[in-house]
Amino acid sequence: MKSAANKAKNDRKRGQYQRKNWISKTRRLSIYLRDGFQCMYCGSDLRRVDPANITLDHLTYQCDEGSDENSNLVTACRSCNSARGSKPWREYATGGAIERIVRQRTRGMVKFTAMARAIIRGETGDPRLEGGC
Ligand SMILES: [Zn+2]
Repeated sequence: MKSAANKAKNDRKRGQYQRKNWISKTRRLSIYLRDGFQCMYCGSDLRRVDPANITLDHLTYQCDEGSDENSNLVTACRSCNSARGSKPWREYATGGAIERIVRQRTRGMVKFTAMARAIIRGETGDPRLEGGC
């Protein structure tokens, strides 16, 4: 019989393989904020789409030694992420997208991270202004 510790270890391994929850909520949101909730490839506004259609794309794939650093991650709509397939990002990105990506990926993250944390913790807003009549 497997011990609980073994099971946890196996779950962790599986988790790594599937890379589920590979990025924190805060960091994910901070990158979406950095990119203005815009697909960095086609430029579409992702604020009104089904949240399941907002993804992060690794510019350089992990199998090509790409990292999970913010500068290697961009906001992408589901269809661009999937259409890019295994193409190098500079090949897939067209019509100003390269310039957009180059600009966005190197932006400082401090204020976006702070904003993402505040939103997730429920620290934005002011009940005195929002609460009543
Ligand atoms: Zn797109």
